[in-house]
Amino acid sequence: MSSDKSFDVIVVGAGTLGVAAAYYLQKNSPDKRILLIDRYLAAGQANTAMSAAAVRNMFASSTNQLLTDTSIKYFEHVQEELKCDLLFEKSGYLWLLSEEQFGNPSVKTWIERMERSGISYKVYSKQELKEMIPGLNVDFSNDEEAELMNLQEVSYGLYGADCGFLDPTRLVEYYLDEFKKISHEKPRFGVNVEELIVEADPKLDLPSEPYVWQKKKVTGVKTNKGVLTADVIVLATGAWANELLDPVGIDSQTKVKKRQLFVIHGEDKPPLVELLNTKGFSDIGCIPFTILPSAGVYFRPQLQEQGFWVGCGDKFGREYKYVQTDDDLVPESAYYENSMYPVLSKYFPAFTDTRPTNSWAGGYSYSPDRIPFVYMESGVLVINGASGSGIMKADALARIADALYRGEEEAELFGGKKIRSTALGQKGRDVEVESVII
Ligand SMILES: Cc1cc2nc3c(=O)[nH]c(=O)nc-3n(C[C@H](O)[C@H](O)[C@H](O)COP(=O)(O)OP(=O)(O)OC[C@H]3O[C@@H](n4cnc5c(N)ncnc54)[C@H](O)[C@@H]3O)c2cc1C
Repeated sequence: MSSDKSFDVIVVGAGTLGVAAAYYLQKNSPDKRILLIDRYLAAGQANTAMSAAAVRNMFASSTNQLLTDTSIKYFEHVQEELKCDLLFEKSGYLWLLSEEQFGNPSVKTWIERMERSGISYKVYSKQELKEMIPGLNVDFSNDEEAELMNLQEVSYGLYGADCGFLDPTRLVEYYLDEFKKISHEKPRFGVNVEELIVEADPKLDLPSEPYVWQKKKVTGVKTNKGVLTADVIVLATGAWANELLDPVGIDSQTKVKKRQLFVIHGEDKPPLVELLNTKGFSDIGCIPFTILPSAGVYFRPQLQEQGFWVGCGDKFGREYKYVQTDDDLVPESAYYENSMYPVLSKYFPAFTDTRPTNSWAGGYSYSPDRIPFVYMESGVLVINGASGSGIMKADALARIADALYRGEEEAELFGGKKIRSTALGQKGRDVEVESVII
């Protein structure tokens, strides 16, 4: 049936994952009517816009290596061959590690798996790091404060050259524009899905069906703009997936944690500018995205702002929480001052006396093994659980979702590598647990 309320597929969520999925679905099923909707007034306004926009193929699991490496190569292809500037720059990722961390079997496995997958990396010694990075403090001996704060000394650097940043707004625009060129349906914004509609399959038109003995499936969505129906509903609603899945009894197996970023400007602080313009790692000539050995603190360089975005992947003690109101995602200035700043300024005294000029927060949607989910369940195709790295995996996840929709056994990722379409499912899941989560 052709109407403005009934479609072959409705993609709910126009973040990176939703727009990329909409594009591949339409590209490979040109006759299907695919509608993309989002409750915001434009695409890419939720966690996609809150991200650090960094991309890395340096994961410990072969699964995440495959998802990110092929996606990053596709982003490069878009920029270099298709001439769509994503502002993608390879400024590198640098893990600063203590002696103990470097010797940990999990780091050894991480490095071995990168070797096996052909992911380029380089190990720097303490001396090399000291010479390259202006002001890096690698000596905490006789530092009682550092001891009190459980800070581990930097002994090694693990560097990935094929990692960097892009502009997520441009990435979203790229997929959205490509989708719009081939789509039969104009994306609809300001459409909030309130619930998934479950119906008997087939419908017998009995009062109050479906009954427990009937087969059931999700046949549509109830929205603020009325009911929309489709054969398949793609849920790319990120941190809000549980709101829609819980009421119909689908366990998303994902949980959400708040994550925050704080902007530190370097303009009036010469040591910070010097740190920002660290040479020797990449052609860009700036300090890479850097992860400190302790407390989960990291920063990324922000050349346009001549500063840094500082974040923290705190684990125990940070609650899992449904994101319900905007208050759930308010950044905490005291968190920077009391938790992150003392760590940051110990390793990098250039940050001494810095205060954030801006900050924001979003939610990571974590899966138990920190590998994304892509699966079909009762008429819903769920793409979720990217565990804080959905942008860098977007192309691969969207291709897998499309292959699953078309009933293909395998999904072909950019560059020709393949993955079983159900490998990221809840059933038949075939993944390695990820240990390198920031
Ligand atoms: C602080 C922070 C830093 C991060 N850094 C990085 C990084 O450096 N690199 C990286 O790859 N990833 C990073 N991430 C993670 C990344 O942002 C996410 O993995 C990615 O944005 C997920 O994309 P998405 O499309 O699923 O989600 P989103 O961008 O959140 O999109 C979901 C969309 O669904 C819509 N939606 C939700 N519910 C409904 C509903 N009921 N009805 C209609 N629409 C609905 C929302 O409006 C939204 O537009 C970071 C996240 C945070 C919070």
